[in-house]
Amino acid sequence: MLQNQKQPPAILSHRGRSDRFFRICLKYSVLCKILSIIFFQLHMNPLNSRRHWVSLGMIMFHNVLLAGPPGTGKTMLAKRLPGIMPPLQEEEALQVTKIYSAAGKLPGGIPSLMRERQFRSPHHTISAAGLIGGGSIPRPGEATLAHRGVLFLDELPEFSRAALEVLRQPLEDREVTIARSRAVFRFPASFLLAASMNPCPCGYYGHDSDDQRCICSEIQIARYRAKISGPLLDRIDMHIEVPRPLASEGLTSGMTTSEMRALVLQAVRRRSERPSGSRGLGELAGASLRKAVEMTKAADELLRKAFDSLGVSLRAHDRILKLARTIADLDGQDRVDQEHVAEAIGYRSLDRKLHTL
Ligand SMILES: [Zn+2]
Repeated sequence: MLQNQKQPPAILSHRGRSDRFFRICLKYSVLCKILSIIFFQLHMNPLNSRRHWVSLGMIMFHNVLLAGPPGTGKTMLAKRLPGIMPPLQEEEALQVTKIYSAAGKLPGGIPSLMRERQFRSPHHTISAAGLIGGGSIPRPGEATLAHRGVLFLDELPEFSRAALEVLRQPLEDREVTIARSRAVFRFPASFLLAASMNPCPCGYYGHDSDDQRCICSEIQIARYRAKISGPLLDRIDMHIEVPRPLASEGLTSGMTTSEMRALVLQAVRRRSERPSGSRGLGELAGASLRKAVEMTKAADELLRKAFDSLGVSLRAHDRILKLARTIADLDGQDRVDQEHVAEAIGYRSLDRKLHTL
């Protein structure tokens, strides 16, 4: 009797094994379904997806990492972002002007209202203090000078680990906190992070051509990519691979800057007209975020399955949801559908590649 309790009857243990087998099969079939939808969204309809990312990056401050070989126009693409973003509102322009005035960096030294969104592109040798601010009486760093604009980090893995890690706080809180013995200083730092990187130290991994071949060892590539930590990648919503042909196709996919800005403004208007849209999604997380984003049943199901199968973090889950909301806005849809969720998940493909290499 005692023996029977310790060792379950053969029939039960057989059922346990088949249940486990069934669950594994189910998990992989779900994973295949998700990946096939993502593949369809990103590869079968490239113009649509490129239209989306060009518009998305600037609209609600979705951070972007552009990865690709040298000479594909990654920097040029990033430089266009401020021109496509919605114009600064009066209050935002005042805030930016105040920051530049305090830093002694008003353009031409003339005290007039700065109405343009700023594009800051510090060199990769910059220190952590230079990036977020420092000194005995702290002065604003690049993160604050990029407030309401774009902070572009060209060649992201070349930045020191210390500099990249201090960015995590402003990316989360949208402000910089610097503690000194006498006081705690707070600087606004709500910026769009745009970064670029090569796929490997020489730049040609996965993009070999007749005249250019990757010469890096696997260890060199792994070391290069490991310079970007998982937590930092978690805070970057869109990992875009910029392939070589993009340059020859032109960088706009047939859209001018003003056309792209019009598309963005239309989406912003749609968002502000929605009852839950007026307060924005920036600060929301977890259950309150899910409540604010109206989804179709299919979209909700896909997001849940992706969360279980792909092992994304809770932070990444929330960011995917916000990105899906923006994609639906650009599509003119009030409810987020599964194609929007699939596209948002697809934009996070690089972090899996970085860690599985
Ligand atoms: Zn290489």
